[in-house]
Amino acid sequence: MICKRYLPPHRIEEFLSEFDKNTRTVIGQSVENRPIELLKIGSGAFKVLMWSQMHGNETTTTKALFDFIPWFLNLEQRTLQNKFTLHIILQLNPDGSERYTRANANHVDLNRDAIDKTQPESIALRNVYDSIQPDLCLNLHGQRTIYAAGVGGPSASLSFLAPAADFDRMLTPARIKAMHLISGIADSLAEVLPNAIGRYDDTFNPNCVGDSFTQSGTPTILFEAGHVPGDYQREQTKIHILNAYQALFEQLAEPSQPLETIIYSNLPQNKVEFCDLMVSNICLRVNGVDFVDQKIAIQYKETLIDGRIEFLPEMVAYGSRLTVRAHKYKILPDALRSIPLQFKEESLVTDSRFNDVFSLNN
Ligand SMILES: [Zn+2]
Repeated sequence: MICKRYLPPHRIEEFLSEFDKNTRTVIGQSVENRPIELLKIGSGAFKVLMWSQMHGNETTTTKALFDFIPWFLNLEQRTLQNKFTLHIILQLNPDGSERYTRANANHVDLNRDAIDKTQPESIALRNVYDSIQPDLCLNLHGQRTIYAAGVGGPSASLSFLAPAADFDRMLTPARIKAMHLISGIADSLAEVLPNAIGRYDDTFNPNCVGDSFTQSGTPTILFEAGHVPGDYQREQTKIHILNAYQALFEQLAEPSQPLETIIYSNLPQNKVEFCDLMVSNICLRVNGVDFVDQKIAIQYKETLIDGRIEFLPEMVAYGSRLTVRAHKYKILPDALRSIPLQFKEESLVTDSRFNDVFSLNN
């Protein structure tokens, strides 16, 4: 299976090469001297700053931008082009995107570097923010398969957050504006994603960029591209994200539309509830002792191998009773039930006879 999750810097360059030179600006260099580019489209007074792949392995929101940008530039959207100027950083963390890692080349999480700005990527983003002084920021991310939209809820296919601006999580004007906008997005997606939109934890962390920009008075929306069951390529999620972008700008262009923060407040909070796969009827050998009739919980770890992303199964829990829910359940085939399954380094499944059982493709 070809994995579509990998989006290294050359893919961004290919996309941007179609654009006129005067729409593109290099706003900085990454730790490994890769250019960080800003694309400017539209000519309206309302300025939006959006950045994706601040975490290099979170590519779905970038892929959705590949579809959103041509949509925005289509002649039919002339109203939007006249209303908005979009400043888009498709890939803030090119080094992490090349390596398919969350962190940058210095192993720093750029979304925990808003205060100290120790990294060139953090400085580039803050400089752009200061020089543009946007009316709205969109902080574009992806989340793992572990989240449910609320306790016992379905997989959180999308999540949003209107970040707090202070430790008391006060409803500042910027924050209320972000809540309004998320309410509008959630309302327009409610039919296609019933109950599957989650709300992120709003604990204030001034080191997170969204919190920092909200604190500075700019409405900021965190987008999290989540998991649609079975869609490990995130192709369906990409469409939901695209629809969310479109819904956002359509409602912004129609200010008369009544918007309520209550829809945002009523979104279920994300809960860590899922593993990817649960396999039952396993004989487990732990420290030389065999335990029969066990269950194991598997999480797939996206791993870059020879330029491709492989989904490698990792055991995250085992026992005769597991409370974690799974996106998929399997019962071990009879032929394998009596074979003790052994682990190396506690968590890695090493017995190749089990490969088919644990593979994402089966
Ligand atoms: Zn992220």
